[in-house]
Amino acid sequence: MSYDKVEVPEEGEAIEFDGESLSVPDNPIIPIIYGDGIGVDVAPAAQNVLEAAANATGHDISWMRVYAGERAQEEYGEGTHLPDDTVSAFEEFHVGIKGPLTTPVGAGFRSLNVALRKELDLYANVRPTYHLDGVPSPVKNPEQMDMVSFRENTEDVYAGIEWEAGTDEVQEVREFVEQEMGFDETIHDGPVGIGIKPITEFGTKRLVRRAIDYAIEHDRDSVTLVHKGNIMKFTEGAFRDWGYEVAREEYGENVITEDTLWEERDGEAPEDAVVVNDRIADNMLQQILTRTDEYDILALPNLNGDYLSDACGAQIGGLGIAPGANFGEGRCLAEPVHGSAPKYAGQDKVNPSAMILSGRLMLEYLGWDEAADLVRDAVEETISSKQVTYDIHRQIEGGEKVATSEFAEAIVENIEQLA
Ligand code: NAP
Repeated sequence: MSYDKVEVPEEGEAIEFDGESLSVPDNPIIPIIYGDGIGVDVAPAAQNVLEAAANATGHDISWMRVYAGERAQEEYGEGTHLPDDTVSAFEEFHVGIKGPLTTPVGAGFRSLNVALRKELDLYANVRPTYHLDGVPSPVKNPEQMDMVSFRENTEDVYAGIEWEAGTDEVQEVREFVEQEMGFDETIHDGPVGIGIKPITEFGTKRLVRRAIDYAIEHDRDSVTLVHKGNIMKFTEGAFRDWGYEVAREEYGENVITEDTLWEERDGEAPEDAVVVNDRIADNMLQQILTRTDEYDILALPNLNGDYLSDACGAQIGGLGIAPGANFGEGRCLAEPVHGSAPKYAGQDKVNPSAMILSGRLMLEYLGWDEAADLVRDAVEETISSKQVTYDIHRQIEGGEKVATSEFAEAIVENIEQLA
């Protein structure tokens, strides 16, 4: 692969994917986007910590800096937000990490995050939500939260099929919907914006399969399909039905659905079986608060997944902590849940934990479990010792408020002590 403005590091080797599994060298080349806003603060902090954990466990990382967002325009020229170099690097090297990217609301270019996920077919956004000791939380028992959400990443209202009010296109769509499809009393008169919400069998099944596989592999009890199928019957209702189809048809005795459990088995699940159930999204938003410990793995269409995973994140200490990663076939792009928080950009102030713990998911994907555990333990140790960034400091008694870079240094020291 040839690159226009970025360089492949001379040290380090490419990760290979043979269609089934990855082969990971000891010193893989990992592309990284720092991102906009606070990306310049949290990304270098994460690099330090991930490198320290890799080194402490006999590995190394050769970073390849690539660009997107504002910095991409500086490097590649006005209007280029997502250069081909960047997409090619993630394609060639399979595993990477990115900081947040700013998306303008209402006008301007479409989300670069959405574009990257679509270009690389990163169809599952995975967000584990667990509580770390010492992190303040707005709920009484944050330790009960231990869920992993699998959010579909390529379709739903995020597919970008929408038309602006006042355009010829929206008028054409309106006429088709009203005259051809018979919805003539449905849309109010006057200007209207229209979007389309595709949910496919293909997109749903591969996402739900991934969630069930994860539940089996990690010995978890249940997978909950979260949908709004009572209202959106042919999109979210179909998500539920196709999800159950995967569970019934592809896993034999390893997986059992909640309805067969009650109808055929007097409520008893075979030992070790994963139970697949479903909940309506609005109910689920209150259940995560009121019956937190009853849920385990969640599988959701794109929009529900966006809302629900942030709500879960709030229960374990907020956006500064919440990690995530996007997965496709033989691909992983780790990224924190939070955005670019422009008001704090470049101040060396914000919490890098979310980006660091996203990197931990990347290390797990490489099969470097020891390094991944070290990262988690060292972050927990650092927060427990009350050396914390502003967001945590304002919520606890005492403690020392430290900068982003100092917090990362403290984590590195803890990695060296724990290793
Ligand atoms: P945001 O950037 O996540 O920031 C919202 C608030 O969350 C901040 O003001 C801050 O709260 C807190 N916060 C976020 N990250 C933090 C961190 N690392 N440490 C401590 N506190 C943190 O959300 P936004 O303001 O809605 O979005 C800003 C831009 O980011 C938008 O353009 C949006 O589209 C984009 N965005 C990108 C991604 C992505 O790249 N994946 C994801 C979400 C949003 P306090 O001020 O209360 O301390």
